[in-house]
Amino acid sequence: MTLAAGRHYLAIPGPSVMPDRVLNAMHQAAPNIYEGPLIDGVPPLKQALKDVALTRQNLALYIGNGHATWEAANTNVFRRGDSAVVLATGRFGHGWADHARALGVDARMTDFGKSAPVDLNRAEAALKAAPDARAVLVTHVDTSSSAKSDIAGIRRLMDDLGHPGLLMVDCIASLGCDEFRMDDWGVDVMIAASQKGLMTPPGLGLVFFSDRAAEIGRDSDLRTPYWDWTPRNAPSAFYENWFGTAPTHHLMGLQAALAMIQEEGLDNVWDRHARLARAVWAAAEAWGQGGDCRLNIADPAHRGHSVTAMRLANGDGTRLRRWCESEAGVTLGIGLGMAEPGTPAADDFFRVAHMGHVNAHMTLGVLSVMDAGMKALGIAHGPGALDAAARAMLA
Ligand SMILES: *Cc1c(COP(=O)(O)O)cnc(C)c1O
Repeated sequence: MTLAAGRHYLAIPGPSVMPDRVLNAMHQAAPNIYEGPLIDGVPPLKQALKDVALTRQNLALYIGNGHATWEAANTNVFRRGDSAVVLATGRFGHGWADHARALGVDARMTDFGKSAPVDLNRAEAALKAAPDARAVLVTHVDTSSSAKSDIAGIRRLMDDLGHPGLLMVDCIASLGCDEFRMDDWGVDVMIAASQKGLMTPPGLGLVFFSDRAAEIGRDSDLRTPYWDWTPRNAPSAFYENWFGTAPTHHLMGLQAALAMIQEEGLDNVWDRHARLARAVWAAAEAWGQGGDCRLNIADPAHRGHSVTAMRLANGDGTRLRRWCESEAGVTLGIGLGMAEPGTPAADDFFRVAHMGHVNAHMTLGVLSVMDAGMKALGIAHGPGALDAAARAMLA
């Protein structure tokens, strides 16, 4: 049997689903890069991005993925030999720290494990042990674990301790999905990328930074002409936005995506993600009542709204993913960093994305397909998952 024909649904945490409006906006011949709409469109595009980040401060754009923004942020802030406090809640926190270390930064890791957010008591100890750290690096929602951390709480803690470091936050998985308020929460550097909540192909990296970050970073000795955020933020010519050819079609797509977010309203976008997330959690909890299905993050308050990491047992995560793809036209996300690759446990973990251009029929559809897959494969599971999902979504 296969029921996979029809429109395929990529339910992984990036690249996310691209709206037809974004795809159509990109379906154009190469544009004039000297004058006209492409050039005139960049200042309003940057303003619309700041509106999503809820900041009135600075923004540098890069042709690059999320990893590029790690490097951009690091090189603009640090001097070789500086120390940084890293608060890691999954694979991506470690990745950012590794990139900093390779540049000569003394990245001091506090690891909160694979199933928990930042604990403020442990964060306090880490900050006290590194009073001279130039910055704190933290991931808002770590896409591998789906743990969401309290960014405003970390800022309050830093203020209470009088810690002078910059607060740098990876929002690649959360911008345009989870509530995030850069200026209100006192965030100094925030990085994001085009292919997750912003519904555009991978290839555009965003680095938002505060005036204070610009000031403190002025004496960074790691900054190179390409990564320097100063001209990108305040270009004296269009060329200085990119240092080379502009990412023409990404800009067209992103313009359309930002218009969609604006039309829906950011509060409604956040609310939609919250409701879809609750549906996924409710289904998983119901399946777990009669089987091995478990959510990775126990406390709903600490779960991101764009992706849910979960597990089965006996390698059933991978079996279920394969069934959903080959028999039902849905690709689920692989487990990432939760178990050693190649070990039997690695096949237990998987992720369901509900990120960006996703609505009720898509998420309820994914859950129905997963429910059918468990039945087809004989994976033990509790009843009533779809009923529970519908109720949670409407609550
Ligand atoms: C996806 C992701 C990254 C990496 O982004 P790439 O575009 O794959 O380089 C980094 N951090 C978080 C939190 C992510 O979700």
